[in-house]
Amino acid sequence: MPTPLPSHTTAKDLPAGRQDPMLREKLLKEEMLRAKIAEVKDDLSFTPKISTVTEALGFATKHGATVLDLTFVDVPGTLQHTSKPLHELTEDAAEGGYGFDGSSIRGYQQIEESDMLLIPDPATAFLDTFTVEPTLSVICDVIDPTKRKLYDRSPRTIARRAVDFLERSGIADAAFFGPEAEFFIFDSVRYKSGQNSSFYEVDSNEGIWNTDKLEEGGNLGYKIRNKEGYFPVSPADTQQELRATMVREMERAGIKIETFHHEVATAGQAEIDMERDLLLPMADKLMRYKYIARNVARKFGKTVTFMPKPLWGDNGTGMHVHQSLWKDGKPLFAGSEYAGLSKMALHYIGGLLAHAKALAAICNPTTNSYKRLVPGFEAPINLIYSARNRSAAIRIPMYSNNPKAKRVEFRMPDALANPYLCFAAMLLAGLDGIKRKLDPGKHTDKNVYHMTPAELAKIPHAPGSLSEALDALEADSEFLTKDGVFSKDFIANYIESKRAEVSDESSRPTASEFGRYFDA
Ligand SMILES: [Mg+2]
Repeated sequence: MPTPLPSHTTAKDLPAGRQDPMLREKLLKEEMLRAKIAEVKDDLSFTPKISTVTEALGFATKHGATVLDLTFVDVPGTLQHTSKPLHELTEDAAEGGYGFDGSSIRGYQQIEESDMLLIPDPATAFLDTFTVEPTLSVICDVIDPTKRKLYDRSPRTIARRAVDFLERSGIADAAFFGPEAEFFIFDSVRYKSGQNSSFYEVDSNEGIWNTDKLEEGGNLGYKIRNKEGYFPVSPADTQQELRATMVREMERAGIKIETFHHEVATAGQAEIDMERDLLLPMADKLMRYKYIARNVARKFGKTVTFMPKPLWGDNGTGMHVHQSLWKDGKPLFAGSEYAGLSKMALHYIGGLLAHAKALAAICNPTTNSYKRLVPGFEAPINLIYSARNRSAAIRIPMYSNNPKAKRVEFRMPDALANPYLCFAAMLLAGLDGIKRKLDPGKHTDKNVYHMTPAELAKIPHAPGSLSEALDALEADSEFLTKDGVFSKDFIANYIESKRAEVSDESSRPTASEFGRYFDA
């Protein structure tokens, strides 16, 4: 067996006899990435505050950008893009909008009404470091060219309307969101679903199933046991450098990071937490966050997924979302009620809990989401609130007594939620709770894991499937539509397309069904 290489070995340091082309290529890639990062590492706040097209253009020119990348979000929450030479970015052109065909975008227009316009939001500008050609990337609003109005089915339109609705309500003038998006970093993923066969296989050097694997240089052990990834140091944690690089790239893109660490599951589960921000910029940042996480991983020869349950038998991946309302610069959620909350915060919780099942259709939008929401893996399936209980759908963090830090943490969503829709829907549920003074019931500090089945049966639960969540949304969507934040047309289309997903998934035989039923 060859001896292991010291860390930071470069391709040219590779000893004779260790000229494995794949290893060499991997080291070269890492070197290139390090060199690229070193070029700009002197400035963590690499993206200055930009609010006009002229400022964005100045920033782009200063850094030698030649490409303008126009990005926007489809209904499932994937960032889409189209590019132009940078000279196409002018105040006039940006105000008029850049045309694209909306009929090919998931959840957008029908073919007969396909022409749409992208209006770049200069506040979202950042220099994309993943492209060889220096590129200024911006997130765009989508408008309907005939009416020159924000397009109804664009998620960013819905987020804008939720913010307008909050301001009109007089209840608060700012809603802060802090999502904790988790994800897995794998070394490979393979899958296929056909008529007569179906399989998936993910792999990670850290995976507990690899204790017996013959590895290059010898298997050195330190594989992370199930549910023990939170959070031993290296050599068990092999992804610190990768996460640190993601963080540096995020900060350079103007996303301030508070903390990052390995998460509980084996096989490279990770979490990076952003500093909270207002609803719209936070949703924009989450799109960038995913883009950067995925692309840094790719440079390291790894791959990131935000799927809630890519591994059977270990913790799934969630996206707890911290939220608070403010007015005139003052926090509204701190008070003298339970866990230092205000009455308003309790009503907000009341709203989240009352609409939780309908919210699940938006905050947990895939069939895979419900494989996370099962007992036994810290999943927040109990629709209760608590300052302590981690299986409660709502937790009140108690780390700080500072009123400015007082917030509600809704733990049900996962990172496949489209952030524009998810944050908007949660805000509307909370505001409905405040307006109707909804009582969240009594808090539950008793350990849910120690409850008897009879006690557990009294607690309402998150939906058991996407189908149930869609039923709940169908029965309870007025809090989303009555002030026109979500249009009825959007909700109807959303439910229809998600029902098609459910129907397709449930019609496919699975490998485990063969194990259970083939010889029955
Ligand atoms: Mg976490």
